[in-house]
Amino acid sequence: MVKLVTGRLNFLYLVISLLTFPISGAMIAEHEARRGEGRLTGMLISGLQKLTLLDFPGKVACTVFTGGCNFRCPFCHNAPLVLPERIESDPDGEATVLAFLKKRQGILDGVAITGGEPLLQKDIGAFLEKVRALGYRIKLDTNGSFPQRLEELVKAGLVDRVAMDIKNSPALYGKTAGVPGLDLAPVQRSRDFLLEGRVEYEFRTTVVKGLHTRESLTEAAQWIAGAKEYYLQQFKDSGDILHLEGLGAFTNEEMHALADAIRPYVPVVQLRGVD
Ligand code: SF4
Repeated sequence: MVKLVTGRLNFLYLVISLLTFPISGAMIAEHEARRGEGRLTGMLISGLQKLTLLDFPGKVACTVFTGGCNFRCPFCHNAPLVLPERIESDPDGEATVLAFLKKRQGILDGVAITGGEPLLQKDIGAFLEKVRALGYRIKLDTNGSFPQRLEELVKAGLVDRVAMDIKNSPALYGKTAGVPGLDLAPVQRSRDFLLEGRVEYEFRTTVVKGLHTRESLTEAAQWIAGAKEYYLQQFKDSGDILHLEGLGAFTNEEMHALADAIRPYVPVVQLRGVD
């Protein structure tokens, strides 16, 4: 999942970023080796942002970054959380996060779980149960690839808000996700589940020149017809993009025009990263 902040909030984001620390440590191989030996269970956690006022609407929260993703969106700015050779994780990351959350009880009220793709983690249910037991509200980011896990977590009452990426129109989905020939059925099932309204949710698209057009976004908006909210996030070059070649950002004016073009299909369309 890609986090973007509005221009007005860049300074605030910078300040908050200074409070961020990566949980550095052994590489993923060591983590998996310890898992294999039965010495380790739990989540593969690659980072913790200790404070965010942006990632979980209406909540004072922290953000937990999980390692690994099944997509390869060329515009992804979280390459260190996606590419196996670059993923770092603390073998004791879950314990570290839970200890932090225990200390922040009464100070923070939410935890945003992002990645990578958090639903890749087979132990996510057990982890969210522990977070919930500490009294936190939980927001989950997902690319929609794991509908069964999503449904189970929501039905278990372990998720308060879901943010699901809509990569592009159905025809361009695989290309935009960096997975040629992608089977869209699981993503469609996640979409349909969220549209049932069992949990608070938002759909969002990082809009990238070179991948998106007015037509493709219109088709994407039609594909989520019935949704209450749709967020268009302006692409920003973080300096560590997966495959930047041929990609760029739409101007603020172009972003407003794109939002206007899809408003007939979704009642609330909002821009992120645009002044
Ligand atoms: S879904 Fe795409 S943007 Fe999100 S973490 Fe995976 S590769 Fe990056």
